[in-house]
Amino acid sequence: MALVELAPENRNLIDGELVDASNGNTFLNVNPSTEEVLGTVADGTKDDIERAVGVARRTFDESNWADDPAFRQKCLRQLYEGLLEEKEQFRAIVVHEAGAPVSTTPFMQIDEPIEMVAYWADLAGNYEYERPMSDVPFLGRPQRRILRREPVGVVGAITPWNVPFYLNLTKIASSIAAGNTCVLKPAPDTPWSGTHIGKVIAEKTDIPPGVVQIVASSDHTIGEILSTDPRIDAVSFTGSTQTGRRIMACAAETVKKVFLELGGKSATIVLDDADFGKVCPGAVMTCIHGGQGCAITTRWLVPRARYDEAITLMKAAFESWNYGDPTNPANLQGPQVSRLQQERVLSYIEKGKAEGARCLVGGGKPEGKGFFVEPTLFVDVDPQMTIAREEIFGPVLCVIPYQHDADAIRIANDSKYGLSGGVQGGDEARALRIARQIRTGTLAVNGGQWFHVDTPFGGYKQSGVGRENGVMGFEELLETKVIALPGK
Ligand code: NAD
Repeated sequence: MALVELAPENRNLIDGELVDASNGNTFLNVNPSTEEVLGTVADGTKDDIERAVGVARRTFDESNWADDPAFRQKCLRQLYEGLLEEKEQFRAIVVHEAGAPVSTTPFMQIDEPIEMVAYWADLAGNYEYERPMSDVPFLGRPQRRILRREPVGVVGAITPWNVPFYLNLTKIASSIAAGNTCVLKPAPDTPWSGTHIGKVIAEKTDIPPGVVQIVASSDHTIGEILSTDPRIDAVSFTGSTQTGRRIMACAAETVKKVFLELGGKSATIVLDDADFGKVCPGAVMTCIHGGQGCAITTRWLVPRARYDEAITLMKAAFESWNYGDPTNPANLQGPQVSRLQQERVLSYIEKGKAEGARCLVGGGKPEGKGFFVEPTLFVDVDPQMTIAREEIFGPVLCVIPYQHDADAIRIANDSKYGLSGGVQGGDEARALRIARQIRTGTLAVNGGQWFHVDTPFGGYKQSGVGRENGVMGFEELLETKVIALPGK
């Protein structure tokens, strides 16, 4: 798949205009697979984000955006068409700035997320914002009630770098479909996946000025303004559990709605009646996109009775896995997004070795440029080891033996996270029974695929609060009002 030449927008979007940072500063965008500077981007300041919040507030309070679903639908359809025209530019951006393997872009990174905008356009226009409830008596007199859903107001959106275009787009499109205005702060490692959406909005749609603001910045903490500013009504955050905790605490001061999509340490349980030859090589998919996916299953639980057979199959798959240059369609694993992430992953690997896990494949970084980490297979992992408990966000699989089904369920659930997981087994009913006992937001039985725009996505426990996507995700962005009238 040949990539088009990069021509990204590098300015922020505030009040309908593409603007440089108020102090004129820029920061560098670095290609993680070559370590070369790709270009620069406006380095939004505290003043810029405060202006963006003010504009979003004024637009919500003073325009009729919230009250005109048909117009919102029209604007979202324009956005969809505009994104389709820029699809190849977005693909080039995400491959170069995020190191996303080009072969993965049709699914999570680019094509599928653009299609999702059509869903948000339909929902904006077709959702039943108001409906009568049943009449009820009060002190013997009949009462009518109307249930009304209204936009929550101004949404502050903060995103990470692993699937940056998808997350930026989902947060913008779902927020404005529901009638809100928004301010997005994209991740500093992948700024153009945010700012280039701003160009499409400004140049190819009738989305009114002030409905969407996009402010990139090298300063992580300017995002904090979105969780403290009283003019923001809700914060929609995707990122690490640590930052999510901080956002929740900051938002408490002004009692904002918080919506958090956080980390994961998901488990795949391989049952003893699974087709090992078919299932076990699939464990190497942990390394897709350098393992930088929150819902990837990074713990594989394997029955003790068939343990050696399983790890022999996994070892072969890890040894023959293609990784490297993300522009090469044969590679499903590119680099980690930054040197910082590369070092973080390597330090977890060292901890795994120090705590006694057996590193069967990989465990280091390859020679040459780029923030790559070798696909790494750890076996004989104890569930209490650091690598079995903490999110590594790298191409590192932990294989943990278990004794019987109840033991597997206990180990899978013994985590502060609860985002996703899988069960593989020859008897679907038995696999489904086990899936029902795993405390996570999504589960794949025998390779079933849950990812879709109408699937509510989110986590149990410290993997988050609320659900994104689908009607449930849309309703997270709405307030609920009941209006009562005397009965007739
Ligand atoms: P991160 O938490 O470090 O950063 C995420 C975003 O928050 C960035 O835009 C960053 O600039 C901003 N930020 C940092 N400190 C902030 C603060 N104090 N206030 C406001 N904003 C702040 O996460 P990351 O390293 O960019 O991304 C990796 C993490 O994201 C992983 O833990 C991964 O599991 C998680 N993730 C979760 C999902 C999901 O849907 N559950 C999806 C993708 C990624």
